[in-house]
Amino acid sequence: MPHPATDTARVVTPGKVLDPSTLPVRFAAADSDYFAGHPLMVPVDGIAPEKLRDTYYEGRDGARRHLSQDIRAPRGTPVLAAVDGKILRMSQNTLGGITLYAVDPEGKYVFYYAHLDHYSDAVTVGLEVKQGEVLGYVGTTGNAPPDTPHLHFQTMRMAKGRRDWWNGTPIDVLPFMLIRGEQRQ
Ligand SMILES: [Zn+2]
Repeated sequence: MPHPATDTARVVTPGKVLDPSTLPVRFAAADSDYFAGHPLMVPVDGIAPEKLRDTYYEGRDGARRHLSQDIRAPRGTPVLAAVDGKILRMSQNTLGGITLYAVDPEGKYVFYYAHLDHYSDAVTVGLEVKQGEVLGYVGTTGNAPPDTPHLHFQTMRMAKGRRDWWNGTPIDVLPFMLIRGEQRQ
């Protein structure tokens, strides 16, 4: 029997059932090959991979789908770099609140961390970070419910050559988040 959270036919949001035929695939074979060799750390301190709840296909306002993973943790829990890489962008927007974008060492994937309470003092654009380094802290900035602090974590293929390189095609890395979140600095 399929796991309910990964059986797209069963994805239900309040008052709405998403049509599974419209759902984009989670990732392609090339993504899978890459991340099989580059396992991700759960980007929240103290969270083990088996504790993650799959929120990738959840519905959002209108026809939007989440295409991200939400990782719940108490406010102020350290948010960690999922992989080695570099900070590319730090910005604020209405949905994501306080956000940060990082890229992997090969420049293939962009990782988006949102709803941060605040950034780590050490973090600046251009900084190289190691997996497990503290980037910021879990919060509810943007459109996160005030009583549900969580990290909104999205992975996208780098949109090379585009001005909005941070807006690449989302993929799901849940199966590749295999390392327990643990500060390493
Ligand atoms: Zn989210």
